[in-house]
Amino acid sequence: MAKGLPKRSDDYSAWYNELVKKADLAENSAVRGCMVVKPYGYAIWEKMQQTLDKMFKDTGHSNAYFPLLIPKSYLSKEADHVDGFAKECAVVTHYRLKNAEDGSGVVVDPEAKLDEELIVRPTSETVIWSTYKNWIQSYRDLPLLVNQWANVMRWEMRTRLFLRTSEFLWQEGHTAHATESEAIAETKQMLEVYADFAENFMGVPVVKGVKTANERFAGAVDTFCIEAMMQDGKALQAGTSHFLGQNFAKAFDVKFSDKDNKLEHVWGTSWGVSTRLMGALIMAHSDDEGLVLPPKLAPIQVVIVPIYKGQEQLDAIAEKVKVIQKELQALNISVKFDDRDALRPGFKFADWELKGVPVRMAMGQRDLENGTVEIARRDTKEKNTYQLDNVVETVQKLLEEIQANIYQKAFDYREAHITKADTFDEFKDLLENKGGFISAHWDGTGETEDKIKELTKATIRCIPLNNEQEEGACIYTGKPSTQRVLFAKAY
Ligand code: AMP
Repeated sequence: MAKGLPKRSDDYSAWYNELVKKADLAENSAVRGCMVVKPYGYAIWEKMQQTLDKMFKDTGHSNAYFPLLIPKSYLSKEADHVDGFAKECAVVTHYRLKNAEDGSGVVVDPEAKLDEELIVRPTSETVIWSTYKNWIQSYRDLPLLVNQWANVMRWEMRTRLFLRTSEFLWQEGHTAHATESEAIAETKQMLEVYADFAENFMGVPVVKGVKTANERFAGAVDTFCIEAMMQDGKALQAGTSHFLGQNFAKAFDVKFSDKDNKLEHVWGTSWGVSTRLMGALIMAHSDDEGLVLPPKLAPIQVVIVPIYKGQEQLDAIAEKVKVIQKELQALNISVKFDDRDALRPGFKFADWELKGVPVRMAMGQRDLENGTVEIARRDTKEKNTYQLDNVVETVQKLLEEIQANIYQKAFDYREAHITKADTFDEFKDLLENKGGFISAHWDGTGETEDKIKELTKATIRCIPLNNEQEEGACIYTGKPSTQRVLFAKAY
């Protein structure tokens, strides 16, 4: 067990908090809910960004940037939107400070009060649709496929590093279309992109589904989501894609003339994933020794630790390592040679385990003589001695195996923790003693959903897209239902 890291089985929550700090990913700042993302954490986020950015561009989107501050009046133009976000907005009221008369520091200058207060963006639909009004006149201007990488601010009351912070980094796609069906197709396409990224890069299996009206994005007609299961059985909403209908086009008067010269409101979508994905990545795979990173997102994929006595041995190992490093780098595999002199190999092993590096090589004098190397994989902790001759192929194969294995492990865990419940007692018992996702009938009303949440803390995570229709009775009210939905306690 890594030094000072609580065990998952003792206190999953403390394990997560400590791991984020000990693995040098992030820390809290002076402002509650705002985090510092440290270089190692940011390196993982950058890999996520680069991969997603390519996926967005491959599906025809371009990046742009819109302002951080939004006039207060914009927010109130879409009624549901303002209802949903008003309670968590940071507001800029003044533009200047001045020295306090009693010399106690600086105070807000009352003379520098803004005529119209500004909102620090909680999301950018309003500022973007007010801009789209000028960009869209004709069907020739559509579709408009724009993404922005930015920070946003939501005044969250209960925060946790990465999972829920007040300021977070994210991307937000905002698209405009001539037809409803095109906008719906875009919403679903981006959900598929997110699911692809989660499963094939993060190694996190997700359920694709649609949110209930209660959980829908404020201002959307439909919210689609990907839901992941963490190792404690709790759910994490890992990404959302919203079909906005014509709501924002109507609020901001965005119309286009179609081919018959008829004026129509534009159809919209928005979709986002945030630094919460870092939390998902950590919670889904890591163990009591530290992070377990999927090779595709690990900033360092291979670390090489020399085992030596004296400079001469180190030099000989370093020479061999240089060759291996070059060969691996030529294949885009990132390699670090840990030749820090003052530290023992055992310390280095534990350190790189904590940091989740997928493959570790240890090379000593005897290995050099025998033409061998010891390789350990982070996911299973298996160690084997391999021939140096084909070490590049060995590493390549191992990285692929690790990527596949951590996905499979998370998938098997999830499958074992999706359980059907047919009575409310069964439902409560499962929540209490097993956790995970519970597949149960629900009468389709917001009231029942609220009541179940109040009694059990479980929420409807989604109505899975691939749902089978099945006659049944709501576990709480007994009213008829045609399909099961997924309930869980969630982050
Ligand atoms: P939304 O705009 O509410 O649909 O959220 C877009 C994305 O941001 C979703 O993937 C959420 O999981 C994520 N998200 C929402 N609130 C937070 C928060 N406070 N901290 C981190 N991520 C968040």
